[in-house]
Amino acid sequence: MGKLVVGNLKMNLLSSDEREKYFELFKKEISGKRLGDCEIVLCPPFIHLEVFKKTLSKRTKIGAQNMFWEGSGSYTGEISGAMLKNFGCDYVIIGHSERRKYFCENNEEVNLKVQSAVKADLKPIICIGETRIEKETQQMLSVITKQLKKALEGVTRPKLENIVVAYEPVWAVGTDITPTAHEIMEAKVLIRKILVEGFGKKYAEKVPILYGGSVNSRTVKNLCNDPEMDGILVGRESLVPHEFIKIAEIISNSN
Ligand code: PEP
Repeated sequence: MGKLVVGNLKMNLLSSDEREKYFELFKKEISGKRLGDCEIVLCPPFIHLEVFKKTLSKRTKIGAQNMFWEGSGSYTGEISGAMLKNFGCDYVIIGHSERRKYFCENNEEVNLKVQSAVKADLKPIICIGETRIEKETQQMLSVITKQLKKALEGVTRPKLENIVVAYEPVWAVGTDITPTAHEIMEAKVLIRKILVEGFGKKYAEKVPILYGGSVNSRTVKNLCNDPEMDGILVGRESLVPHEFIKIAEIISNSN
């Protein structure tokens, strides 16, 4: 399985000028770089999706940062999986901790979105992870078990190959605090175990498990050195193409 490097651009790139500048730098950085079989995915705000798709080469896949679970109709302000697919998205981030925090997204809603994304032929990147309090009270294992099991309810075995899981401890996202490589591997082993128990080894092995939370080009080597690591979800640093592509280069050369 090749490594997956996902950039979550969050609520940034406020104008077409900023977007053009980003493209210019991104194209300059990626051109001629040897990234092996690393898959690069950029997730811009909805408003930029179509232009990202048209502007960036096939080498860069496009993802959204969220979606609604209904397919179409009277849902003011929402975007469906079918719309994302029709406008060129391959991936969609679901259950990001910022959505859980600011929009009160719960595990049931995450599950509805995952099911709907799979139905629309999108690859959901399901974000799970414990808060600082949950970590301090030794609830990490129970929290991520509950989040993942619920998120995957109703997903059939053959569809599992479209699923990506991102372990993003909430206390590490946007903070510059990171877990140890050992803690990340512990979470990864647990996630794989839940997948194997739920779907069988053959299917479970196909699911990439990413780490996300304050990764930059200086920390990525220590955090994700393990060849078992399937990739990375990068937030703020993906806004700086030089840094983002450097992270991808390090990951693609890590085994
Ligand atoms: C994220 O938003 O998924 C993320 C990992 O953010 P950051 O890298 O900025 O911590």
